[in-house]
Amino acid sequence: LVRIRGVHKSYGDHEVLRGIDLDVRAGEVVVILGPSGSGKSTLLRCINQLEVMNGGSIRLGEEQIGYELRHGHLHKLPARAIARQRSRIGMVFQQFNLYPHMTVLENIVEAPVGIHRRSRAEAEAHARELLARVGLAEKAAAFPRQLSGGQQQRVAIARALAIRPELILFDEPTSALDPELVGEVLATMRDLAGQGLTMIVVTHEIGFARDAADRVVFMDGGVVVEAGPPGEVLVAPQHPRTRAFLARFI
Ligand code: ATP
Ligand code: MG
Repeated sequence: LVRIRGVHKSYGDHEVLRGIDLDVRAGEVVVILGPSGSGKSTLLRCINQLEVMNGGSIRLGEEQIGYELRHGHLHKLPARAIARQRSRIGMVFQQFNLYPHMTVLENIVEAPVGIHRRSRAEAEAHARELLARVGLAEKAAAFPRQLSGGQQQRVAIARALAIRPELILFDEPTSALDPELVGEVLATMRDLAGQGLTMIVVTHEIGFARDAADRVVFMDGGVVVEAGPPGEVLVAPQHPRTRAFLARFI
């Protein structure tokens, strides 16, 4: 579903991504681990075009992210086409970014109604289904400030699903939460992983990587150092940098 080849990204003369190659199959759950500053967030931001990459290519299904092939040449996409590509990808951030003045239900239907032109009735019915799926069926009319951090993050997950994305990106979805609230969010994510959703998850939750990931990718210094099934990368890492990183969690 996703094919990432030779992706480079620099800020000024600081090269943050130095040639990333990564494939994600439909239905696969890929967990990205790596030290702070290794470029994990930047990679996710390149995938959904919150950043423009300096080199390389990302394909989502049959489409080239940010470009289209016309007359045998790649052309930069206009803003409208970029928005359409972005709407194939859901994103959940560390900070939940819910609209404080909207109810939970309004937060979830905002994109499907405003951007995807779904009927309000259909979007609301879908939103209530999603709220049930994340265990918050009774919170539709609540405002974000009335919810715990874990509940807010589960609303953010429901909101990301509301656009019926082909791919959902998570950037440290539990790192802003109090420790006792982490479990409920990870449980929701495990459910989704078990339902065949294609997910790329940046997290420091090694336990989640161990039991929910199909593949674990270890990034350091803007490259993929090592990738493979959790039973290999987490249990018998091949690269000294992976071993050094994982040693912190034992
Ligand atoms: P963390 O685990 O701390 O979230 P990360 O692996 O997600 O780290 P990135 O956020 O991708 O790392 O950042 C990689 C490097 O790029 C860092 O050195 C960071 O300072 C730099 N960087 C990120 N965004 C920008 C920006 N907008 N302008 C300049 N430098 C940036
Ligand atoms: Mg980050």
